[in-house]
Amino acid sequence: MSKTSDALLDDPQNARAYRAMMGLIQKQITIIVFIQGKAWVVNSTMSGKLHEYMVTRNGTWACTCLDFTKRQKPCKHIAAVKLLTEQSV
Ligand SMILES: [Zn+2]
Repeated sequence: MSKTSDALLDDPQNARAYRAMMGLIQKQITIIVFIQGKAWVVNSTMSGKLHEYMVTRNGTWACTCLDFTKRQKPCKHIAAVKLLTEQSV
């Protein structure tokens, strides 16, 4: 990994987006559209166990995971949905 990408990944939000992308590529994160453009079911096996979360977009993004609940900032599940739906985070 180059110095440039290391520096980029020092930013926690970029690091989350990166992990989300890797999860999608490695099929550890799968996303099912629940309501087009508004709600998605995200299945993640990244921690070794299957977890299911609901990501919603109602003006602002939200997720049912502990990471989002605690920090109120976009988690990797939101990042993964954004990657799929907007091709950007
Ligand atoms: Zn989440």
